Amino acid sequence: MTRLIDSTACVCDAQLWLTTLEHMLQQVNGHSLGSDAQDRASLKRDLREFLGGEVPLHQLDDLTKVNPVTLETVLRCLQARYTEDIFYTNAGCTLVALNPFKHIPQLYAPELMQEYHAAPQPQKLKPHIFTVGEQTYRNVKSLMEPINQSIVVSGESGAGKTWTSRCLMKFYAVVAASPTSCENQTTAERIEQRILNSNPVMEAFGNACTLRNNNSSRFGKFIQLQLNRAQQMTGAAVQTYLLEKTRVACQASSERNFHIFYQICKGATEDERLQWYLPEGTAFSWLPNPESSLEEDGFEVTREAMLHLGIDTPAQNNIFKVLAGLLHLGNVHFVDSEDEAQPCPLMDGTKVSVRTSALLLQLPENMLLESMQIRTIKAGKQQQVFQKPCSRAECDTRRDCLAKLIYAKLFDWLVSVINSSICADSSSWTAFIGLLDVYGFESFPDNSLEQLCINYANEKLQQHFVAHYLRAQQEEYEAEGLEWSFVNYQDNQTCLDLLEGSPVSICSLINEECRLNRPSSAAQLQTRIESSLAGRPCLGRNKLSREPSFVVVHFAGPVRYHTAGLVEKNKDPVPPELTGLLQQSQDPLLRMLFPASPEEKAQEELCGQSRAPALTVVSKFKASLEQLLQVLHNTTPHYIRCIKPNSQSQPQTFLQEEVLNQLEACGLVETIHISAAGFPIRASLCSSGCPGTHSVDQAVSHQNFIERYKLLRRLRPRASSGLRGMGPARRSSGLSDNICFGGLCLQRGTRQLTLELLESGRAQM
Ligand code: ATP
Ligand code: MG
Repeated sequence: MTRLIDSTACVCDAQLWLTTLEHMLQQVNGHSLGSDAQDRASLKRDLREFLGGEVPLHQLDDLTKVNPVTLETVLRCLQARYTEDIFYTNAGCTLVALNPFKHIPQLYAPELMQEYHAAPQPQKLKPHIFTVGEQTYRNVKSLMEPINQSIVVSGESGAGKTWTSRCLMKFYAVVAASPTSCENQTTAERIEQRILNSNPVMEAFGNACTLRNNNSSRFGKFIQLQLNRAQQMTGAAVQTYLLEKTRVACQASSERNFHIFYQICKGATEDERLQWYLPEGTAFSWLPNPESSLEEDGFEVTREAMLHLGIDTPAQNNIFKVLAGLLHLGNVHFVDSEDEAQPCPLMDGTKVSVRTSALLLQLPENMLLESMQIRTIKAGKQQQVFQKPCSRAECDTRRDCLAKLIYAKLFDWLVSVINSSICADSSSWTAFIGLLDVYGFESFPDNSLEQLCINYANEKLQQHFVAHYLRAQQEEYEAEGLEWSFVNYQDNQTCLDLLEGSPVSICSLINEECRLNRPSSAAQLQTRIESSLAGRPCLGRNKLSREPSFVVVHFAGPVRYHTAGLVEKNKDPVPPELTGLLQQSQDPLLRMLFPASPEEKAQEELCGQSRAPALTVVSKFKASLEQLLQVLHNTTPHYIRCIKPNSQSQPQTFLQEEVLNQLEACGLVETIHISAAGFPIRASLCSSGCPGTHSVDQAVSHQNFIERYKLLRRLRPRASSGLRGMGPARRSSGLSDNICFGGLCLQRGTRQLTLELLESGRAQM
């Protein structure tokens, strides 16, 4: 038998493997197995047919089938498929999604969603995000108790993460729609529609046009789609991470502010323009590159979606008025003061901007101006209050800080409103499917705290992936004593130790600098990091840079982080005068966002300037990341790796170098190696044990398996050295003929046979 299957093609997923066993069984039952050449040829042909035979590169639906699995072969396969307009490819346990950069309506049509949903075995259809969506959906219900699932969508900026998440949400809105018994509800009121409506709102306020993506998400997002026992979507909950709030006051050249500002300026009616002081043609410093067709009807769409989420027109107008106030604030500029004892004067012509901004934010004009120009210091035992004029740069920083403070609070509030509109009562759902759309790994010429946090998050997610799929699988094989050549995957624990480990790590050192609250230069921070963490393998050598910096060797490549401004960004200080100012606002929205509660005031008085420093950006981020990983650990994860075929957002353009970099950055080849060499442990079986009729992705029971395939046992090769290492406990347990893993028990011989089948199959291709 071993000889017979020697030259069959590769078997690489559970379904295929079971199908093969099934076929063998038929052969055995039909006594058609023999040793003569004719039988051999016939079995070989039949198996080839089952397994697809030798197929052209673009027809390889799974990258585990390319041979040998290298960056080059994987790249060639993806390119061949891309050229044929095939954008999805399996890579073992991961789905690779190439961004087509062109709209292909039929690829996301509701009919296609239904097709994947209704298919007995969706994994037999062409690879698609709907396969992942459907398998995830079935996994929820396949077990006695519903099990939470998650889909981690990763990839660099512009690769298609948000697009993919949005399509998956639409998929669930179709396949998990609540029953038609709520026909009395209008479409707009239906929960699925409300959940979908959260997308345009969050994207208007949280996305922006960047050099790499016209609709780049400037925040991370985890949405839990909540399902009841009947598998209907009853609600959702959104969690966001690290909004890039600096963008509100500072945009890199050729980039833009958040979409919503442009939408207001383009979409407001004459009346609204009057109310918000936005006469046509006004130039705003914080609104660079306004000429674009990006938000033709964006404002309408955003308003409509907000309405469905329960934000009525007066509340919307209040939001837009505040945002217009921020635009005018951005036009406030200062000049250097000739006398240091005097506040920096306003630049000519900008007094009107202070006035307009104060009007829109409903703040006393003088207070607004002074909060930017003058710092209040409490000193001495009596905590006497002194006032000190700020330098021009400080005035600018305070102005920007005010805008960031308002925008970030507004964004968080919007998320909470969205949540209260879509989140189901905890008794009405039993499981969730989580969709994670976070920034991919980033490496720019100038990297700072934002990149450090993002790359740290990516390290954590990579570790989660490694732990879940790679390490667990290999450790299991080792424990079972199977002959197994270990894939040398990159364990990123050392990098994480460098970033977050105790007692000393990059995060702890940056945090400590904040805590000590001492003036420290960028060079001092660099020296501290280099000396305290000397010898750590992932701390790269820092010879070339003239500017103070340090290098971290991430799993996706080395990144140089500049230390200038790092500590300040981590502190993210808010001058107390600014919060005090906002508490004076008469604007209902600002009053709600910045309540002046007596307790808070008392607390401030009590602590004065010596107040314990607030949590740093890194600490807050680390805490939310840990929380996220905790949630992910308690779900069955699924992975989609989005790949950008070119950085010009062009269709029909596959730039090998760029794709290669992304394949390397996500460690795809290692993933494929393990998936290809691994044993399938999950498959679709019907209750009688035959594959195919009832597709529920679950572990095959020992009993079912043995019952069904025991005939093949006589074909097993003799126990080989491959089984060495079997522990004595296992040997004496009476189970020596069986090997259990991941809930699936196989006869040892069958497993060994499968191993040979896999090996020989791969050698053939
Ligand atoms: P970022 O990290 O910057 O937020 P992203 O990975 O979320 O990037 P998307 O915004 O999802 O990237 O995709 C970028 C653009 O690529 C989309 O605006 C869309 O034009 C195009 N795109 C992505 N996926 C698809 C697809 N499957 N079909 C058609 N166009 C797509
Ligand atoms: Mg995005």
